Amino acid sequence: MSATSPTLTPELYAQERGLFCPVCESNDIRTGTLESFHQVVRQPCTCISCQATWNDTFVLTGYENLEFTP
Ligand SMILES: [Zn+2]
Repeated sequence: MSATSPTLTPELYAQERGLFCPVCESNDIRTGTLESFHQVVRQPCTCISCQATWNDTFVLTGYENLEFTP
């Protein structure tokens, strides 16, 4: 764990739709494999510029495009 405060809080990061580094704001990042755990999906990310690592988190918000033929 680094003691450095990120430039962006998780909330601001989500508002900006992610896919950039929350520390240095570089969009030169590498993303790993999505892993689901209960209602949350995590994706490990690494910043190529400053070597920061974090997990993007995705939360289930519902469903759509339901099709059902009785
Ligand atoms: Zn960075």
